[in-house]
Amino acid sequence: MTNLLPEMAEIWQQTLNWQPTVQEQAQFQKLYELILEGNRQLNLTRITDPQEFWEKHLWDSLRPIAPLLSANFSPTLLLPGTSASPALIDIGTGAGFPGIPVTIIAPNCTMTLMDSTRKKITFIDNILTELALTNAKTIVGRAEEIGHHPQHRLAYDIALIRAVGAASVCAEYTLPLLKPGGLALIYRGNWTDEETRGLENAVDQLGGIIEAIEQFTTPLSHSIRHCLYLRKVAKTPANFPRAVGIPSQKPL
Ligand code: SAH
Repeated sequence: MTNLLPEMAEIWQQTLNWQPTVQEQAQFQKLYELILEGNRQLNLTRITDPQEFWEKHLWDSLRPIAPLLSANFSPTLLLPGTSASPALIDIGTGAGFPGIPVTIIAPNCTMTLMDSTRKKITFIDNILTELALTNAKTIVGRAEEIGHHPQHRLAYDIALIRAVGAASVCAEYTLPLLKPGGLALIYRGNWTDEETRGLENAVDQLGGIIEAIEQFTTPLSHSIRHCLYLRKVAKTPANFPRAVGIPSQKPL
């Protein structure tokens, strides 16, 4: 095989206290191959080198959420209730990140993979079939619209969002979808205290709080990552999210 993903069992163990099973590793490999193949027709990702794919797509997707999925939940990041099958949504999933790696390692979760581009969702539908992932479904839609849909508003325990826009835009896309007590995970690269201060007002207007901000160092290239954990603590006013395009044009 020409494009073999590394397994990195020791690094998974050290950083997530977890290792993929043989089946999960095979699903990661298949995901990688399908994305390389899909890249020929769709502009899915610039990251095609096996080590880089492992780090920037698999490790990056899983590191921020792993503490929430493990049996001994992080004390600071408890989920609402004790749902045996938490409902997750990945907004602007693109080629399936972070949603697909999470779907692979958390079969007890139900994942909704959402993107505004139909072509990307069609591609993901095929991945779900090929990887035999039955705990995920897809929707084509815009976060600004889905956030008002009775089937989706107030429906999720966790919302994931990576590389979709400014943090306040991500907050406006995610918080309306959460159940009371739910968590939004906003994946970032660099992040500063000044940005935190700028985000506070937006999160407050949306009925959330910034509960935690974690910093991670990626294990191969030693790059900096952050994850913002927003907790929904109050009702999100009915006018949020605002109409299509407004959140990014006039960020809170
Ligand atoms: N989350 C993926 C893809 C990021 S690219 C990753 O980190 O690799 C951003 C994606 O968000 C694109 O696929 C785009 O179609 C989608 N997107 C942008 N604005 C959106 C919106 N308002 N609602 C839903 N999807 C959106």
